[in-house]
Amino acid sequence: MSKTLEAAVLEKEGSLRREAVLKGFELTKIYRKGAREVRAVDGVGLRLFKGDFVAVVGPSGAGKSTLLHLLGGLDTPTAGRVELDGRDLYGMREAERARLRNSRIGFVFQFYHLLPEFTALENVILPALIKGDPQREKAIGLLELMGLRDRMGHRPQELSGGESQRVAIARALINDPDILLCDEPTGNLDSKTGEGLTALLIDINERKKVSLMIATHDESIRERADSVIHIKDGKVIS
Ligand code: ADP
Repeated sequence: MSKTLEAAVLEKEGSLRREAVLKGFELTKIYRKGAREVRAVDGVGLRLFKGDFVAVVGPSGAGKSTLLHLLGGLDTPTAGRVELDGRDLYGMREAERARLRNSRIGFVFQFYHLLPEFTALENVILPALIKGDPQREKAIGLLELMGLRDRMGHRPQELSGGESQRVAIARALINDPDILLCDEPTGNLDSKTGEGLTALLIDINERKKVSLMIATHDESIRERADSVIHIKDGKVIS
């Protein structure tokens, strides 16, 4: 075998050995508005490998949020399948899916989705509490890591956008997920704060080997991703 062919075969074998933590097969989501139907996601297949950092890009309305919600078990597909560690996410009962989602996947949303009546610390503790162990010390450690030592007792309305998003990241990490799904995480932040936040997410990806998928318009995120999925009209175009 020639040297280059041998290298190509080895590379192929290596990529086949890589572990896909999350897989989508022919994923489709159709919204119906009266007689009109919107194919928000249209036959998408993809794999997210352990430790990978993937950016999902495309124009507004392309289906990025819907795709992330389907992959994360937040929204039932009209057709197709999602596998988390080889298990059919929508083939199980809702309670089991919620349990799996809470322990394996962390979500970060554009508008933070913090619960306004709880403090930053309580917001971070909540997913651990749902799992059965409040993990208060760990939550404090995560907030310290996010540079929020002085903000733990604050409620969301007393926090800036950047601080709120860092609380949301701490909350996403409390149960040591394998996967972080982020929907326009910097979309509501000024560019400097956004850059800091992106650096934080990439650091988590690199150090904790958490698979990271970010739906974004942000060029700097796209440039730093290991791979980029372009979607348009619900379809993967490259
Ligand atoms: P993106 O995140 O790329 O901006 P979305 O996934 O939010 O795109 O939306 C994709 C398409 O699905 C858009 O046409 C949007 O209007 C439509 N859509 C999203 N959510 C709903 C919903 N709950 N009901 C009806 N249509 C929806």
